[in-house]
Amino acid sequence: RLDAAEKIVNLFGGNRREEVVHAVDNVSLQIAEGEVVGLVGESGCGKSTLGRVVAGVHAPSAGRVLWRGRDVDSLSGAERREAVLKIQMIFQDPMSSLNPRMRVRDIVGEAPRVHGLVSGGEVSDYVDRMLLRVGLDPSYKSRYPHQFSGGQRQRIGIARALAVQPDFLVCDESIAALDVSIQAQVLNLFMDLREDLGLTYLFISHDLGVVEHLADRVVIMYLGRVVESAPAAELFADPNHPYARALLEEVPRIDTRKRVFQPVKGEIPSPLSPPTGCHFHPRCPHAMPRCKEEAPALREIAPGRVSACHLNEA
Ligand code: SF4
Ligand code: MG
Repeated sequence: RLDAAEKIVNLFGGNRREEVVHAVDNVSLQIAEGEVVGLVGESGCGKSTLGRVVAGVHAPSAGRVLWRGRDVDSLSGAERREAVLKIQMIFQDPMSSLNPRMRVRDIVGEAPRVHGLVSGGEVSDYVDRMLLRVGLDPSYKSRYPHQFSGGQRQRIGIARALAVQPDFLVCDESIAALDVSIQAQVLNLFMDLREDLGLTYLFISHDLGVVEHLADRVVIMYLGRVVESAPAAELFADPNHPYARALLEEVPRIDTRKRVFQPVKGEIPSPLSPPTGCHFHPRCPHAMPRCKEEAPALREIAPGRVSACHLNEA
């Protein structure tokens, strides 16, 4: 499926160098066109770093990002600009990602004008269309970011990203800072945009309920490594990796409207000096002597499903 996809984002972490702290080590991630991939894990697991590398915000110290099968670093000129624009990032805090001294019409209209996606004369109508698309009243466009609510500001951030006509959005905790009642509205907007525009998403979130709701596939990271990647329905029904199982353990509740997940037992080791072998071994209830010595490789455990645990090597 991945090889046949028209668009693949591949990410390969490279060799470990002792003097460099690797937030993300030897990670390989492939995303097919139209997919919504949820990337989850506890804080410090490297999911934000991985998202930033995918979005081109951080350059990897080793490894490559392939866009439609081509190394982004090897592209130049118009091809490179095109790849950069097609991948947009939506951040957690819309206040700090929007320039407070710019009016909404410039925040949304500047990049498409600079990149020649719209002419100077059409930019005003273009901005109106973008604002309507994200559910904002175009008559607000001469206002500044501080004059909006948190949810509206996030919509402005989304309009700014859409204005450069992306194919792929990397959302890093994009709804985490919003009130719970607003989170669902912004999530629905993301899903509507997927339908209407055929967008692909890498959705980074610590909120498993959110990821279950919207992801086609879930990738679980632990201390800089991918430990399991599986279709969302299969993962939530039957997680394979012991860390995935711990992560998906629910808090027993009588009123079970919403699933509530339990924090994983044990302390998160420092990402600066992760445990030897399988990074999860100090917290794993199934740890065996070899787990301290040897890092398990990601192995296919079912079609479209990989997990990195020695228990899978029968
Ligand atoms: Fe646990 Fe060993 Fe599997 Fe790691 S490799 S998750 S320590 S059983
Ligand atoms: Mg983060």
